[in-house]
Amino acid sequence: MWFTVEDDLTYLVGSRCADCGAYFFPPVAGGCRNPRCDGQDLQETRLSRRGTVWSYTNACYPPPAPFVAAEPYVPVTLAAVALAEEGLVVLGQVKDLTVDDLEVGMELELTSGPLADGPLVWMWGAAS
Ligand SMILES: [Zn+2]
Repeated sequence: MWFTVEDDLTYLVGSRCADCGAYFFPPVAGGCRNPRCDGQDLQETRLSRRGTVWSYTNACYPPPAPFVAAEPYVPVTLAAVALAEEGLVVLGQVKDLTVDDLEVGMELELTSGPLADGPLVWMWGAAS
């Protein structure tokens, strides 16, 4: 699933290496991906719900898997959001904002919403 919703709050679920502390999203199975670490103990963990915009774009064609696109495809806004604590940049769809609303460095917060007639997915949204 890669995300969970609890008390109306959406969380991304990633992995954290118990040895070196590196975070991974999407979660990884097996050994740590840090080339300087041979840790095998990767634990499922929730990631920060807020981050800052690192880059953004319009997506005028369907994104590749694992991203879930509505059918028929409707252009969406995508943002790469930096999670300071984890040192990760997480690319995701943006809810209710366009590229005209976004700027590098602004804070976004994790949310979720249904695609058109589709499943509930996690998205980046305006920070409350
Ligand atoms: Zn590690």
